[in-house]
Amino acid sequence: MKTIGLLGGMSWESSIEYYRIINQSAKRRLGGLHSAQCLMYSVDFAEIEALQHAGDWDALTQAMIDAVRRLQHGGADFLVICTNTMHRMAGEIETATSMPLLHIADAAAAAITSQGLTRVGLLGTRFTMEGDFYRTRLEEQHNLQVLIPEEGSREIVHRIIYDELVKGEIKADSRRAYQQVIADLQAQGAQGVILGCTEIPLLIKQADVAIPIFDTTTIHAEAAVDWALAEG
Ligand code: GLU
Repeated sequence: MKTIGLLGGMSWESSIEYYRIINQSAKRRLGGLHSAQCLMYSVDFAEIEALQHAGDWDALTQAMIDAVRRLQHGGADFLVICTNTMHRMAGEIETATSMPLLHIADAAAAAITSQGLTRVGLLGTRFTMEGDFYRTRLEEQHNLQVLIPEEGSREIVHRIIYDELVKGEIKADSRRAYQQVIADLQAQGAQGVILGCTEIPLLIKQADVAIPIFDTTTIHAEAAVDWALAEG
């Protein structure tokens, strides 16, 4: 079994889900007392969030590269960045560290195409919804059509992530707000919706909405176990 390197703490509310899912998955697949061989480096999210909202992506890239080097020195075989947003600097991380990276958008795309869907909505932080690092990868490398909410809805989705979900606050009003945003995306033709922020699955479950959800936390964590158990 390979050692999974988890870059976590963004936020720890979702990192703990990764840890649970990869261990449950290893147990389910291997049986007995098996669990996942892994390392996690977990950052202080207050520092990360301040740099994100200040737009200091160069400092964030350096912080991510530093954290990945720690995982590499600790013996991780490959890298899982436990946040969609911080895939913004995936290319720089790969170049600087030469760690094989299991990209969260590639894992999401594989799950979407395996269900035969081609047009999906994307929810996440403003950085993920509005930047091109995530959508372009889905569109150009995986031939998906990606719809994002209109500006007012993006603001609501972003605010709920940073004011509530990363603090572990799960509120019924916020669930209703997300349900409305997803219904609007469906009305515009979305066949499914990517929960493209690793805390959104704490708020929205499949039973809450009418179209298929793609929970990037579970999809990414399961793909990590696929990689850990693959030959070679
Ligand atoms: N966990 C979130 C994501 O998947 C947001 C927190 C962050 O900015 O990293 O994008």
